[in-house]
Amino acid sequence: MEKCIFCKIADGEIPTATLYEDEDFRVILDLGPASKGHALILPKYHAANIYELPDELAGKAMILAKKMAVKMTEALKCDGFNIVQNNGETAGQTVFHFHMHLIPRYQGDGVGLTWTPGKLSDEEREEILAKIKA
Ligand code: AMP
Ligand code: ZN
Repeated sequence: MEKCIFCKIADGEIPTATLYEDEDFRVILDLGPASKGHALILPKYHAANIYELPDELAGKAMILAKKMAVKMTEALKCDGFNIVQNNGETAGQTVFHFHMHLIPRYQGDGVGLTWTPGKLSDEEREEILAKIKA
């Protein structure tokens, strides 16, 4: 079966600007950056999204995200940092190989990751709790 584009990048088949690599992950610069230094954590294992990602890799990905955030914040002198991860077309996913966005933020950069807060009604709160709370 044809490998997906991020599998090829993660495996080194397609050369890409790599910030970090270990046996499980490659961290690359995003080709369409939201801000200076926007990077992606790619697992070498193909999981389409978070639902398919093995727990062990999910844990390692978060630890790596933290390490990269510290390193990149120091190196780029950014003012803040977003870690974003999209699942499904509705959520903005365009490449269907799990990845985490590492987005350095700079004062006045205009990167749009915000939303207008709604209001949580009593009914909705109870409905959601009844559906999800274990
Ligand atoms: P998402 O919308 O969460 O699926 O994010 C996909 C990201 O991958 C976007 O930010 C793209 O700019 C980025 N992207 C797509 N193709 C490549 C590529 N070949 N190399 C680096 N980044 C890529
Ligand atoms: Zn893949």
